[in-house]
Amino acid sequence: MRIVRYESDRGIGFGEMLDREIRPLEGDLSDLRFARDERIPLERARLLAPVLPGKIVAVGVNYRDHAQEMGRQLPTEPLIFLKPPSAINDPEGAIEYPPQTSRLDYEGELAIVIGRKARKVSPTDAAKLILGYTCMNDVTARDLQARDVQFTRAKGFDTFAPLGPCVVTDVDPSDLAIETRLNGEVRQRSRTSQLIFKCPELVSFVSNIMTLLPGDVISTGTPAGVGPMKPGDLVEVEIERIGCLRSRVVAQQ
Ligand code: MG
Repeated sequence: MRIVRYESDRGIGFGEMLDREIRPLEGDLSDLRFARDERIPLERARLLAPVLPGKIVAVGVNYRDHAQEMGRQLPTEPLIFLKPPSAINDPEGAIEYPPQTSRLDYEGELAIVIGRKARKVSPTDAAKLILGYTCMNDVTARDLQARDVQFTRAKGFDTFAPLGPCVVTDVDPSDLAIETRLNGEVRQRSRTSQLIFKCPELVSFVSNIMTLLPGDVISTGTPAGVGPMKPGDLVEVEIERIGCLRSRVVAQQ
């Protein structure tokens, strides 16, 4: 199933994305059910980030080629950091270019969406607690990342976490094509089989540190080819069988 969150003249809700329409769902993320027998045409709805996570856990240097381009050793355990939930940005949303930076990078990533509470789970049990997978752009002010000891400022601005367009529940994430395009030109192209730490391992690793709750997001890291964006650019993160997440970069007002 492809789960979206949308806004229409009847309000905001979850739905199943069909070809040209949305079938409304009710309940919460750990128990979504079909609501009334109704279809909302796509042109009468606006897609929102598919979940509003309580936390976004992001993984650094999790593709071999990206570790190389950043001049980093391959990690022996996952390097994780948090992005604030206030950074969440809708599909087709605007990434605001803050005045504090002069180097704003895209990072196309596969994101795991948690469906059920996960605390101290093994990699084997992790799969049952995952709702599905979506695309994320881990937008990064690279100059601030270099200046600070940690990543909070560089990765924490409002709009720095475009997410979506949908959460796909029935996809095997272990070998999917992932691509980032800037103004239509391919800048990152890899496969999720190149991840150093795989999805079940990541859920297990994080759940042994902090309890994961429905809607929480783990963004699995970016492949080689990160690079700068400027106001006016169109950036697209596309993952095979999941979808294409589009954002426009705008100068912050
Ligand atoms: Mg990243």
